[in-house]
This record gives sequence, C-alpha cells and structure tokens, in this order.
Amino acid sequence: MPHPFHSATALAEHTDDTRTAMSSATIRRAFLDHVFYTQGKLPGHASENDLYQALAHTVRDRLVQRWISTAETYQAQPSRTVAYLSAEFLMGPHLGNNLVNLGIFDEVRAAMATLELDLDEILAQEEEPGLGNGGLGRLAACFMDSLSTLEIPAIGYGIRYEYGIFQQHIIDGMQVETTDTWLRRGNPWEIQRADCAVQVRLGGRTEHFTDDNGRYRVRWIPAKTVVGVPFDSPILGYRVNTVNTLRLWRAEATEAFDFGTFNRGDYLGAVSKKITSENLTKVLYPNDETQQGKELRLEQQYFFVACSLQDMLRLLEAHGIPVNRFHEKFAVQLNDTHPAIGIAELMRLLMDEHDLHWNEAWDITRRTFAYTNHTLLPEALEQWPIELFGRILPRHLEIIYEINSRFLDEVRVWFYGDDSRLARLSLINEHGERCVRMASLACVGSHTINGVAELHSQLIREDLLRDFHAMWPAKFTSITNGVTPRRWLALSNPRLTRLVTEAIGDGWIKDLDRLRALEPYADDPGFLAQWQAVRRENKRDLARLIHDCTGVVVDPASMVDAMVKRIHEYKRQHLAALHIIALYHHIKSDPHADVQPRTFLFAGKAAPGYHHAKLMIRFITSVAEVLHRDPQVRDRLKIVFLPNFNVTYGQKIYPAADLSEQISLAGKEASGTGNMKFAMNGAITIGTMDGANIELRDAIGADNFFSFGLNAADVQGLLSAGYHPADFYHGSPELRAVVDLIQHGFFSKGDTALFAPLFHGLLEHDPYLLMADFASYFQCQQQVSAAFADTVRWQRMSILSCSRSGRFSSDRAIREYCERVWHVERVPVSLLHRSSGHVQSTRVADQPLHAQANAASDSNRR
Ligand SMILES: *Cc1c(COP(=O)(O)O)cnc(C)c1O
Repeated sequence: MPHPFHSATALAEHTDDTRTAMSSATIRRAFLDHVFYTQGKLPGHASENDLYQALAHTVRDRLVQRWISTAETYQAQPSRTVAYLSAEFLMGPHLGNNLVNLGIFDEVRAAMATLELDLDEILAQEEEPGLGNGGLGRLAACFMDSLSTLEIPAIGYGIRYEYGIFQQHIIDGMQVETTDTWLRRGNPWEIQRADCAVQVRLGGRTEHFTDDNGRYRVRWIPAKTVVGVPFDSPILGYRVNTVNTLRLWRAEATEAFDFGTFNRGDYLGAVSKKITSENLTKVLYPNDETQQGKELRLEQQYFFVACSLQDMLRLLEAHGIPVNRFHEKFAVQLNDTHPAIGIAELMRLLMDEHDLHWNEAWDITRRTFAYTNHTLLPEALEQWPIELFGRILPRHLEIIYEINSRFLDEVRVWFYGDDSRLARLSLINEHGERCVRMASLACVGSHTINGVAELHSQLIREDLLRDFHAMWPAKFTSITNGVTPRRWLALSNPRLTRLVTEAIGDGWIKDLDRLRALEPYADDPGFLAQWQAVRRENKRDLARLIHDCTGVVVDPASMVDAMVKRIHEYKRQHLAALHIIALYHHIKSDPHADVQPRTFLFAGKAAPGYHHAKLMIRFITSVAEVLHRDPQVRDRLKIVFLPNFNVTYGQKIYPAADLSEQISLAGKEASGTGNMKFAMNGAITIGTMDGANIELRDAIGADNFFSFGLNAADVQGLLSAGYHPADFYHGSPELRAVVDLIQHGFFSKGDTALFAPLFHGLLEHDPYLLMADFASYFQCQQQVSAAFADTVRWQRMSILSCSRSGRFSSDRAIREYCERVWHVERVPVSLLHRSSGHVQSTRVADQPLHAQANAASDSNRR
C-alpha cells in the first residue's frame, strides 16, 4: 500500500501554480515568497544577494519540476545513458542561461520591473562557478547544454572544487592570484544528496589469496578511506523538459568509520584526519605548461572517478540490470586522460567486487569507455611516476601491469621483432623515472579515440598516437568541437539575437545551420546598417565594462582587436605584441602614417607556475604603458589587459569584438573554441591554419577570413630542415626594428634583462616560430586594416561569418558523438503537471498514480 506521504496529492502539492507556473504575475509572487521564506527577509531589508538568491530559487523550482519529470521518464524507460567524466566543468553563471532555456526571460524581466528591480543587476550578482581552466572545461559545459537540448539521457560527473580557478589581478602590470571563494554566499543551484554518498579507498597494500572456490583473488587493504558526497545541479535543455544532472563530488572524512581514533580518545587527531580528507576537493589545479606529478591531483582524479563508477553500479542495480551488462547501460566518455584511471577502476570493481573473470571484465570495460584527446603537446601528456602511483593506488598498478603485459603480448605478435615499437606502445615509460602513461591506458582501454578537429585528429593518427593507430585504425575518429548557441548567442548577444530572429525566425537557436538563411541579407543595405548598429551598441557595453574594470577609456569607433584565451607560448600572445610594436614603430617613424585606430584587447590567465606566460602578461602591459604615455600614439593604438578572464567576461567580449585573433603555431592548438564563439557573433578572424581554424575558414569562405603563416606541414618541414630564426630578423627591417626596441630595453625602462627570457632565445631557438611567421602576419594585418576601413565590406563579411558558422554548434558535435561513439538515442520527457486535482503526464500516464508518486520519491532519494 502506498504510504500517505507518497500519495499523488503530495506530488500535486509540489507542482502547484506558485511553484511552477511561468506567468509574470506568478513569478512575482513566487519571488516575493522566496525573499521572505528562503532568504528570511522583508523586502525592505533584502540585499542584492538576497534578491539574486530569491530569483534563483524561483527559477530552480521550475527546473525541479522538469528534473523530476525527467528522472521519472528515465526510470520508466531505461535506456543507454551518457556518463561524461570530466575533471573540469566551466559552467559560467546559471541564472541567465536557465531563463533562456525555459523561455521566461521577458516574463521575469517584467515581474522584476513591477517591483522596480533591474533584472540585469540581479543577474550580475551571480558568482560564476569557475570549475575549469579554459577550453576543455568549457567544452564539457557546452556539451551538457547540448545533451539536454537534444533530449539525450546523460549525467556529467566531476569534482566540486571548493576553490575554482584562481582570481587574477593585475598589479604593477603583473599577474597576482587570489583564491576563488565562489561558494562564500551559497550555491542555490545545487542539491546535496547525502543519501548517495559513497566510500573511496586510498593507499595501503594488496593481499593475494585463494578463495573458498579455489580462485585466485586480490584484496585491497587501504591506508585511508574518504567519503564522496554528490552535489547535483539541474541542466535544462532549450525549450524541452529534459533536465539532466551535473553530479559533482565533494570529499569528506569518514568520521563514523574512524572508531579506532575515537576509542583512543584522540579527538584532535581525528579532526585533523578529517581536514586532510577534505583537502582532496579543496582546489582546482591550474594547468601549468607541463604536467606535474602532484600526489593530490592523482588522488582527486581517482576520487571522482571511483565515486562516479560506484554511482553507475548503484543505478544499474536499481534498474535490476546485471553488472555484466554495464556497457549496455552506460557510455562513459573520458574528457582527456584526467579520468582515464576509470579503466583500471572498472576492472577492479568487476573482478574484485563482482567476481567477474579477467576476460569478461576487460571486454565490458573496453565496450564502456571512449577517450577524447585534447592536446598535441607531448609535455602536457599525463604520466605518473610508478612510485607515487603504487603508493596511492597499489591495486590499480597491478591491474595496469596486467593490462600492459597482455597488451604487449599482442603487440609482439602483431609487430614481430619490432622492439622499439614495443617500448613506444608500453603503458610504462621506461626512460628515466618509470611512469604510467595515461594516454596509452586510455587508448588500450577504449573502443573509440577521437581528436577534436580534423587537423588534430590527423596529427594524432600520424604522430602523437601513430603506433596505436597502426594497431587499431578503426578505433580512431574525429569530432570537431562546438559551442552552444544558447549561451554564446541567445544569452550573451540579445541585440543580435533579436535582429536575426526578426529576419529569419528563431529556429536557428536549436538548428544553427538555419543561420544560412541570413546570407541574402548580407547584400541588403538596410540590414547591414542594423547589423552595424547592433555591433556598435555591443562595443559601447564592452567599453563601459573596460572602463569600470581598468579605468581605460575605449573609443567604440576603433577596431576592437581581441585576443582572449589562456596565456601560453604556443598561442603566441607575444606575436600579437610584436605586431603592435611594429605599428608603433611605423607611427613614430612617420607621424602622418595612415594607421587604422585599434583597441587591442588582451585577457587570459597564466598558470601560476608558468614563468614565461606570466612574463608575457608583463610584456603586454609594459607595451600598453608606453603607448598610453605617448600622445602621438595613444588615440590611435591602445592596449587593454582586462584582468580575470572568465565566462562572464567572455559573454561581453565575444559579441563586441571586430577582429578575432587565433594565431597559434600551426600544429599546436587542438581545436580552439573561442574562434567559434567570435565567428558566430560576427567577428572576423585572423588566424593560422591550426585546429578548427581550418574548418572555420572552409565554412566561412577564404574571402571572409584572414589566414596567414606556415601550415602544420611547413612547420615540420622547416624544423627538420634546420630553422634559423636570425635569417628572418636580418631579412626584415620591420622585424629588426621591433626586436631591437625590445632588446634595448625600450619597454622595460632600459632594463635589458627583464624580457630577455622571452626574447633572447628568439634569434637562436624561437621554438614557437614567431620570426618565421611575423612577416606574413604583419602583411595580413595590413589587409585587415584595409578591409575594416571599408565599412560595407566589413559588415558584409561579418554577416557571412555568422551565417556560415552553423557547423560549430555543440549540437552538431553531440549528434556525432551519439551516432558514432555512444550509440544513444533521444528520450523525450513530458511534464508531470497538475490538472483538476490529478497528477498527469502524457507519457507516464499509463502507470497508476501511486506508482508515479513512488517513483518520483525514489528519484528524490537517489
Ligand atoms: C571559450 C573559452 C576558452 C577557450 O578559448 P580558446 O580561444 O579556444 O583557447 C577559455 N576560457 C573561457 C572563459 C572561454 O569561454
């Protein structure tokens, strides 16, 4: 018999009008309720943050209704589910995005207006969850949006870092880091699920024994155990009822299990152990230029993967599916190698905890995982010293040795007598300190391996993972990255959204290829003028932001030339700086020179331990200061370094930029996604033939795209023929003038040593080929200036750039993963709602009411 509390009316009371209806009047009432009952304030005493929290809860109520409907549907129709494993999710603020996806932006704005409150001011209160470094974490966030929008059952699994990516301040032109205390005022989007907590073991040793059935077994006796507690956030799709879950794990101490310590009366000792356990999810590691074998980082990776796999096994059991069908229920995607330890962990769970034999466990494991590679830089590939690995994960090291031994037996047969190949393919790097190669583990344990742009996938096949490709060519595929048009257009560029929608309807928001319908408007003078007006307004907004953050005044009529991304030598912010210095030199040599006024906008964080990247920031800010001090120059060339680049600032910058700088050394950038956000918003790209730039140029047309420099093959050719950067210096008077100014200390108050580490190697080594690409870049920039001076031509290019960017929606990328990697299908969700006193759902209505209510409360407990 159903418990009275689980009855249909209990559910009905949670779906009544105030909690879920979307009219402006109801939203207003619900908001005032939350100010009073959730924030515990009279409206007259509510702070800005109270208003934000109350509105967030108002919107969350509407998500929860859909969330439970989704859980219900997935319960009733068990189907293959994507588990997206990522150490980073760079979500950005939730409130605005949820308003867009729910379709209640106008209603909420109107409701706030009746209370004389400004919605934009409330939105600005949200502290963004910066749980990622850059592109990789942002990709995971775009994918979550697309999975829900495409109604694919999915769970995002990651880490709930207490401190996200550090906050960057610029003091005396230098980066200074402070901690990101994003949880300080609470997080209204998460629900802690204490009932789904799991235990994770670390350290210790293993014992080998024969069980009662005479079978060889292994027991892991850990040195410590920590508890993983999930925090769930709802991820709503655009104008659908699907709300998938982002489940982030926080580490806590197993106080209750620490009887020994408490029995001995060592209270403070127990408390200090508690603190140690909680350190596990304390802070996100900023990715330095090389991967560093930090113990805590390996523990973080194992921790969230172990929690997530246990969670999947629990769901499997709840559905009554036996463990040997794990791969039928879950398609697990490894976002880079950070979660690759999952391969050894699933083997351990299946064998040691669920009694499967090696061959069956290995078959299930390989059918479960797929691996996305994100980097071509060999120094960034994760490797863990055997000593450290074995100390933290003794059982996993044994399993990896066994995987390796069986794998190398295969290799010996395949490549008879080729010992060097054996050494290259081994999961253990034997050069110097012995290390576990995580990318190799990911390759061996996955059914599919993908790169994130065509060129990147080609270089993986031919270079980075060529030996694996030679063994299993069919495992390799390419899926070009994408970005969600909901956040990166509809939310961040409302003016352009309105203009485009008036012209071609709003179908493009869910089907970005439909932007193609804009093309005829590129020749419509009236539309061109409106397009330019929108972009000018966006530039005014950005100028205001820059003024508020830096005090610098920007002229919205100047070209906004933007390079915003992590600071890294391979991305070559210093090449952009060389161009600026060349223009400066040009004006100083000929004050009447015709130089197109530009605002050079730089933003991006440098990893705190990456000395050269920090020096690049100092170099850019030093050049900025010289330009600013020079009255002949300052109104024509201006450099702004906007501190603390994040998603929130990105949402202001991508829609306002005229020129998008994508100038990495060809063969280094895996894909890039900033390039896509700029292009969608109508910025024109200047870029090398690297990553997804190549595909962007193909889509937009070479006439509407400024490409320059060596391509990846040229780079390899030049390096193998012997690169002599000094030849380029001596061959170009412009380049010589620029390099001489720097070397003579012109930008460092005469200090010739300050920037030497960045530039003294330029004439001898120049590993990122700045000298080789400078002339081509400079010349290409002159063409950019000429094009910008022709307003009609520029606006036309801008419209075409936007209209042809449809392929770079993350919806397209997710469709490709679904068809080619995950083999999952959409499961539409209909809303549970109350109608004349009964809970109804068009899809789940075939069940008796009390069963629905029970299922709903089950999913609550889950
Ligand atoms: C898109 C994005 C990135 C990635 O930019 P790239 O230009 O592709 O390197 C990094 N950080 C943030 C905040 C972003 O929104």
